[in-house]
Amino acid sequence: MSKLKESLALQIFLALGLGVVAGLCFLWADQVAFPVKWLKPFGTIFINLLKFICVPIVLTSIIQGVVSLGDPKKIGSIGGKTILYYLCTTMFAITIGLILANLFTFPVLETSGAEYAAKPPVPIMDTIIKIFPTNILAPIVGMDMLPVIVIALFIGFGIILTGEKGKIVKDVNDGLVEVFMKIMHGIISLSPYAVFCLITPVVAENGPKVLGSLALVLLCAYIAYAVHVFVTYSTAVSVLGKMNPLKFLKGGTEAFLFAFTSTSSAATIPISLECAEKNLGVRKDVASFTLPLGATINMDGTAIYQGVAAVFIASCYGIDLTLGDMITIILTATLASIGTAGTPGAGMIMLAMVLESVGLPVEGIALVFGVDRIFDMGRTGVNVLGDLSAAVIVDRSEKKREGLVD
Ligand code: ASP
Repeated sequence: MSKLKESLALQIFLALGLGVVAGLCFLWADQVAFPVKWLKPFGTIFINLLKFICVPIVLTSIIQGVVSLGDPKKIGSIGGKTILYYLCTTMFAITIGLILANLFTFPVLETSGAEYAAKPPVPIMDTIIKIFPTNILAPIVGMDMLPVIVIALFIGFGIILTGEKGKIVKDVNDGLVEVFMKIMHGIISLSPYAVFCLITPVVAENGPKVLGSLALVLLCAYIAYAVHVFVTYSTAVSVLGKMNPLKFLKGGTEAFLFAFTSTSSAATIPISLECAEKNLGVRKDVASFTLPLGATINMDGTAIYQGVAAVFIASCYGIDLTLGDMITIILTATLASIGTAGTPGAGMIMLAMVLESVGLPVEGIALVFGVDRIFDMGRTGVNVLGDLSAAVIVDRSEKKREGLVD
């Protein structure tokens, strides 16, 4: 990691600390409206900029990744390993969430006054159909990441199959990758300021609620997030990726902190790509395939949250979940997390699907609705670390397949 990168991680960390202190000061001075009105908009502008660069980066870098892999067999091998790893870790994540939530005794909360209008969950087959676009522009304009990935894969394959005549498209795309990366670096250099502007209003607005009765369920979710990162990912990167877990965690810090404050895995893709290539030594073609895919379908933190929230809501309503219910939750939360968009608050909407699968009242979402942002910060951080761990592991396994390492 270069000195500059190191100092950027430190700057983000400092900004986070300062933001927490500033948020508490605004709270104690009873001036919550000030950071909401004057700081939050700058954070929002920054997230807008990241979102704006996200689709061009994903589209062009996946095309570049596919073309540079060249061999459709290699793409199949990377894709297969990545998806298998994502599915396994998500199941682990939800199991950890359920076990920990069952160890806690949650108080029964007052449900009156909680307002949340649940949206109907999207059936899984509809999600699968929507992956295949009917129109080349609509997914790009709508930032619909899975179809964007499919479009990029098709264009990449098209370039490979066209050979010499398609070379001009490859060259233009390579140039575009460079241009978008330059823009992205400029945006990322602003991240410490953005982190401060994003975290201060969250602390000012949520302080009292977090100190209240929801603290226990938040604590449970955060312990589960930590267990998943320190046990599952650390073991996976050291056993499968042959990388020291400390190096992995240090290398992923910027992406984690950014995901934590922005609550959007999609907006964090550019930063994850940087961390993977510069800090973790993942090759560009593997990173540009695994990370955008992970930001779209791999949501371990979200799965943990859904498990913890389901047990919490059940206990608030005095409902006992059976072992069969738990297994159903593991399966539906895994599917729900695949269908969750990498955007703020998306996991809470998909929680409706998990609750419905075991007959829990969907209105129960209202109980956790008020502090969703706090849950979301942790779960997005975990989601992004999960994507990075896959990049490390798949890269290592491909290097082994190519005989570059033992
Ligand atoms: N905010 C999460 C993410 O972008 C999704 C969620 O709400 O769980 O990864």
